[in-house]
Amino acid sequence: MEQEKIEILSLLPEQLAAEIKAMGEPAFRAKQIFRWLHVRRVFDFAEMTDISKQFQSKLRERFYINPPKITQKLASTLDDTVKYLCTLSDGNCVETVRMVYHHGVTACISTQVGCKMGCKFCASAPLGFVRNLTPAEMLGQIYAADAGFPEEERISGVVLMGIGEPLDNYENVMQFLRLLSCSEGRNLSLRHVALSTCGVVPQILRLSQEALPLTLSVSLHASDDGTRSSLMPVNRKYPISELLEACRQYFEKTGRRVTFEYAVIAGKNDSDSAAAALGRLLRPVFSGQRPHVNLIPVNPVADTGFSAGSAVQFQKKLERQGINATVRRTLGADIAAACGQLRRNQMHSPAEEGEQH
Ligand code: SAH
Repeated sequence: MEQEKIEILSLLPEQLAAEIKAMGEPAFRAKQIFRWLHVRRVFDFAEMTDISKQFQSKLRERFYINPPKITQKLASTLDDTVKYLCTLSDGNCVETVRMVYHHGVTACISTQVGCKMGCKFCASAPLGFVRNLTPAEMLGQIYAADAGFPEEERISGVVLMGIGEPLDNYENVMQFLRLLSCSEGRNLSLRHVALSTCGVVPQILRLSQEALPLTLSVSLHASDDGTRSSLMPVNRKYPISELLEACRQYFEKTGRRVTFEYAVIAGKNDSDSAAAALGRLLRPVFSGQRPHVNLIPVNPVADTGFSAGSAVQFQKKLERQGINATVRRTLGADIAAACGQLRRNQMHSPAEEGEQH
């Protein structure tokens, strides 16, 4: 049986070196190839000019390079935020966002095609789960969103907050983080990476063992199990008490406080009593250190029936409870409503190529 081809962009330097050595070539070849791929971002073996034609064709037999391609762009008219539809080699697509802050450029990337978690306010949930992204496909979103920008405008921070549940694609996400931070490649410090989860408790505990310097962000969105389960089915499996215990253990193990995401939904989770309950829940989690909550008015998604509550009002309520809360600076406010919806539209009608403003 013919050996299956390997996705070369998913390999770490030492893994590539082992593959190249097994092909009977010296280790420095692997270094050259890794540089072509991850530093020069050349994705065609034929363009690797210091590799012989003969070895190029051996490489083509053993490996494939198929990074995601940007097939649609949605640019904010209010700031520099750009949302991309990235099409994968099998025709599936995901979304990637490029956001420009004072301190640098952050990419919001997807980790799965679709999602299994079924959160009621989310645009991706009704479309279901298709498959996990490979490490190369996560890294490829960053390379695609960087293409054409000068060195100083390159992505310097990454948030895993696009489509998918990163902790439901654990191994591939870890490999992606190793690739992203490896000094021979993109060399991006994990201090500038945030991973957002709906609360898959066993995987939070597993992540705490990795001792990575990334920021773990937990999508909480409610302060009682009844409300949270009605918004997020994952809560039926891992209720709030277990989730916060995992956050406490994460803090104990890594010394890093988990941050909480809270989408403010009018009449659902924005009452005085919700704020008081959140205070009671969160104050003890990090041994007296103040918890931090990021508030965002929920993006109304068609058919969900939710409307945005006042994040500023809820922030005041939380601060009275001894909780630090920030209202997420809304970048790309005019395209934020399209969160997860580029892909949704694409699936309902064939995408038009090119830019859309
Ligand atoms: N699965 C992960 C990461 C992807 S979702 C998670 O659940 O955290 C990224 C963030 O967007 C999460 O905090 C999620 O709850 C939030 N989100 C999803 N749909 C939203 C909407 N319509 N309005 C506001 N936030 C939303």
